[in-house]
Amino acid sequence: EQKKISPKKTTTCCYCGVGCGIVVNKDAHERIIVEGDKSHPVNKGMLCSKGLNLHYTVNDKSDRLLYPEMRYNKNMPLQRVSWDVALDRTVAVFKALIKKYGPDSVAFYASGQCLTEEYYVVNKLTKGFIGSNNIDTNSRLCMSSAVVGYKMSLGEDSVPISYDDLEIADCIFVAGANPAWCHPILWRRVEAAKQKNPDLKIIVSDPRKTQTCSIADIHLQLNPGTDITLHHAIGRCLIEDGKIDHEFINNKTNGYENYRSSVFQTSLTDAAGICGIKESDIRLAASYIGNAKGFITMWTMGLNQSVIGTNKNLSLINLNLITGHIGKPGSGPFSLTGQPNAMGGREVGGLSNLLPAHRILANERHRNEVEQFWQIPLGTINPKPGLTATEMFDELNTGKLKAIWILCTNPLISLPDVRNAEQGLKKAKFVVVQDISNKVETLQYADVVLPAAAWTEKEGTMTNAGRYISYLSKVTNAPGEALADSEIICRFARKMGYHGFNFKDASEIYAEHAALTEGTNIDISGLNYQILKEKRAVQWPYPKLEKRPGTARLFEDHEFYTPDKKANILSFSDKNQSEALTPQNPLILTTGRIRDQWHTRSKTGKVNKLNQHISESFLEINPDDATPRNIKDADIVEISSLRGNVRVKAKLSTDIKPGVVFMPMHWGLILKSDLNRVNNLTNNLIDPISKEPDFKYSAVQVKLY
Ligand code: SF4
Repeated sequence: EQKKISPKKTTTCCYCGVGCGIVVNKDAHERIIVEGDKSHPVNKGMLCSKGLNLHYTVNDKSDRLLYPEMRYNKNMPLQRVSWDVALDRTVAVFKALIKKYGPDSVAFYASGQCLTEEYYVVNKLTKGFIGSNNIDTNSRLCMSSAVVGYKMSLGEDSVPISYDDLEIADCIFVAGANPAWCHPILWRRVEAAKQKNPDLKIIVSDPRKTQTCSIADIHLQLNPGTDITLHHAIGRCLIEDGKIDHEFINNKTNGYENYRSSVFQTSLTDAAGICGIKESDIRLAASYIGNAKGFITMWTMGLNQSVIGTNKNLSLINLNLITGHIGKPGSGPFSLTGQPNAMGGREVGGLSNLLPAHRILANERHRNEVEQFWQIPLGTINPKPGLTATEMFDELNTGKLKAIWILCTNPLISLPDVRNAEQGLKKAKFVVVQDISNKVETLQYADVVLPAAAWTEKEGTMTNAGRYISYLSKVTNAPGEALADSEIICRFARKMGYHGFNFKDASEIYAEHAALTEGTNIDISGLNYQILKEKRAVQWPYPKLEKRPGTARLFEDHEFYTPDKKANILSFSDKNQSEALTPQNPLILTTGRIRDQWHTRSKTGKVNKLNQHISESFLEINPDDATPRNIKDADIVEISSLRGNVRVKAKLSTDIKPGVVFMPMHWGLILKSDLNRVNNLTNNLIDPISKEPDFKYSAVQVKLY
């Protein structure tokens, strides 16, 4: 069919953190058509199954929220109202609650799928004008341990490498991740590199044998929660074999001696026993690393979503530091961002403990810089961190938090111990839901519903996993009265009487954000929409004065962002702090993604082609655990924990370690039945520093139903 847009419009995939470039067109019926952008530096024309089917999600508008809705009390049904009525009511309630209970009585819960401009305005509104730091996002559930890990070791939340480094590394250690399914195009690039260079060694550590293992030279099928023991054991081998970089350690790092003593506390035999793997496999993995000229560590939720997630991150980064494999071609630690714009959100300060441009909330000079820039009185920004994702729902339960505004995320499927979140929403005095879908479960608790524009219906930017900032075009109008998220927030802020929200369009918001980064480590003051449209994706920093196309690799001078410019090799115990297994709940439940679904399925769930891959939730269980329970493949099983239960089909597989069971994170249609919602089972433990939940380790029992 004839294509109508000329010139073609370009955008970026709105799913995973890889950030593939997409060319968007329309057919003769005004329907969106997508194809991979061959000129894009990230994907070079490739798209995975999710990206290839993105057009279905915007062409099918049958599930879209079209108009604002509202109710005056919880017993009334939601009714269609105008934007002014919905926002005036929200302003009245927020002002009354803030006056009576203070600014910390309200909160905003946003998403790593918000565009940078949206993140920027909601963060500015909350911290600069409402006077609370109660703005957190679902990025807390996926990346916050990596943020803290980078900051503690390198002095800054900064991914040092570029994607091109993956193609010149000669050893890649994938820890607790399945990029073949969860970051497919990036992994295609690694597969191509391995085909070209069979000497490229791939190490995978994961309790499950996933698709990623198909090209691994070694799969370390470790017990959940034992990653630090494994990383320490590899560190010990590298030290014993003389495969560490003494010059780099001596001149560019702090903390090596403590680290050395710490890794020598556990023998290799004991470490192998704790991890449930062979000692010889640890030695082999260490030899691959020790002999590599370029060594990349790559990780995601297996390390991040843990009660000891920060230390898991640090223990892996330590392997790059003791070998000096950082700031060099094909070398460095690389956290795979789960969501498309979790990194952009952090850049604008969109977590409850951050300020714009990675400034520190506790630092008075940083607060003052932001206050001056936003033209608000010095001392306005509260130094105390706000509530994090899970804390918000805890405080709705205690009654301290009165109102929550949820945008672009569905906590009723994605939060751990989700019935706690459900109770919190039931108790909330006032709930605002800003979303694209009329099927999202949070709507049943909403007092005000605000319809938002979706992908291709608004313009903006995102920062993907390798510090790549990319631009997303508006190609089509949003249905009904739906508005861009940033426009909704700015209209609300103006009605609250706040100055500084009169942006002409998204490019003005971006310009303000870019200006606020000037002089910081993530300076992008030289960037604007025009450059982003031309170059498609550039890596930060991108300062004004230097005419360089982004910065491919950080720390090439081996000067880090710490006060003494040295990286920190940090030491800590390897003891797991997860929920204890008991005779009643003897199995470890771990959760994760599948290839063709995204998060809580509000987009991918309506694409038939994607549902054909795996159409319903399931429990992956080893025959060693299934057989004594009389469970056969495809039997319905009931999984229970101290929090609740679920019922799904069993999938027997030797790919999962005995003693461990797996369920995908995506399902949970509570309007019909919540019995496929894995977060009925997960626990509310969080890492004490990053506040990231322990999704990868809950004690459960499984029975034939
Ligand atoms: Fe989209 Fe990620 Fe697939 Fe690329 S790899 S097309 S960004 S889901």
